[in-house]
Amino acid sequence: MQPMYKSKLFHLTRLRLTGCYVGVMATILSLGGIAFYGMMAQAHWHALHQELESVAGTLHDGLEPNLKQPGKIEPSIQQLVPGLCLTGTTCAETKQRHVLGTVQQEGYYARFLTQSGQLVATVGYQPEQLPFIGGDNLWQTLKDPHGQRYHHISLLLKTANSQPWGYLQVGRSLKEFDNHLATTGWLLLIGLPLVMLLITGASWWLAGLAMQPVYQSYQQIQQFTADAAHELRTPLAATKATVESTLEIEPLTVAEAKSTLFTIERQNNRLIQLVQDLLLLSRMDLQVLSLKVQPVKLNTLITDVVDEFEALAIAAGLSLMTEVLSHQPVTVFGDEDQLYRLVANLVTNAIQYTCKGGKITIRLNKDEKHALLQVQDTGIGIPEAEQTRIFDRFYRVNSDRSRAQGGSGLGLAIAQAIAQTHQGYIFVQSVSGNGSIFTLQLPLLPQLRSR
Ligand code: ADP
Repeated sequence: MQPMYKSKLFHLTRLRLTGCYVGVMATILSLGGIAFYGMMAQAHWHALHQELESVAGTLHDGLEPNLKQPGKIEPSIQQLVPGLCLTGTTCAETKQRHVLGTVQQEGYYARFLTQSGQLVATVGYQPEQLPFIGGDNLWQTLKDPHGQRYHHISLLLKTANSQPWGYLQVGRSLKEFDNHLATTGWLLLIGLPLVMLLITGASWWLAGLAMQPVYQSYQQIQQFTADAAHELRTPLAATKATVESTLEIEPLTVAEAKSTLFTIERQNNRLIQLVQDLLLLSRMDLQVLSLKVQPVKLNTLITDVVDEFEALAIAAGLSLMTEVLSHQPVTVFGDEDQLYRLVANLVTNAIQYTCKGGKITIRLNKDEKHALLQVQDTGIGIPEAEQTRIFDRFYRVNSDRSRAQGGSGLGLAIAQAIAQTHQGYIFVQSVSGNGSIFTLQLPLLPQLRSR
């Protein structure tokens, strides 16, 4: 069989399928990556807000009752806020654990500014020359002259007698946050193509795997079409040759004309039979064949077959007999005409492939659940290697002999298709040169099984 990659159509389809898989996966992964990135940034931002809000709130509530003059830090405030560094003084770093512990982490700060934006005191990290935004802007994200980003909450402080004091800003540098986001972004950007590369390989492999059965049936159909065309061509070519040679005869006698017409009729019958067989097979494939199902007594069916083929067998110098091993009638549920055709095909083959003096036996038996019908002959047998293929459409072990006897190679394919539509199956046991046994197994009628 031709490998799949050699068929342009399948190769292109596989490429297209892989492209579709990869496209869909890339979209899903990219959207997933963007969503993950957004959610992660959002979660960090939310945690930062909560942290800053809680520190700023505590400071705000603790400080306001102690603020006396706008823009002035009284000593009582310095006691309340350890580590507070007044602008213009040099301060030592303190690492005490208290409510401002958060602010003393790397990059965090608290700043006190007058209403006009003059820095009065700081705690923790000291950002350089941050621009001032007053008013009601609660959350502010600012840049220092080096482009470093800061984010803080800005609360308006009031003195004990409700005069505006200035601003309290609690915030942190966004350096770590930005770095973290940038690293995650890069990891996603580099990781995605790598994952896509793996997905492309896997998709290519999966597309091949998924297309394999389609490719096999495609090849079978191609083979079938070629075989069918070949079978149809043979009688057509024979008819053409006969007609051409007859037309050359001058003058044409009635006997010669009749002989030509007989030949044409024979070839025509062959064609009709072939087309009917093909139609039957395709109807069974499409499951559109209407079956007249009813209980069928196989004992009667085999007697009818023997009655029909006895004369043919005798003419071929063969004995045709039946052997009924079951004491009760063997009855199945099915279409009598189709089952008759199945057994007739097996018996025709047995007659065709058994030499003069041979014996053909139609044996009927049953087990607990099945009817067993065998057609045994003492004929030429079938080589072991061919036994699985003889049920294929148009397959013939010895095509010359089969064709000479009018066989089209469809008899067993039809028999098998009929067995399958009756939930049964056929198998062959044979030794080349030593005869064959074809066994048909069909389910018994349920109510008759136990009898
Ligand atoms: P055909 O029309 O050629 O008989 P079938 O499908 O009935 O086609 O059978 C397929 C092939 O199986 C035959 O060509 C023949 O070679 C082989 N075969 C079938 N039945 C027998 C048999 N009873 N003994 C030997 N060979 C057989």
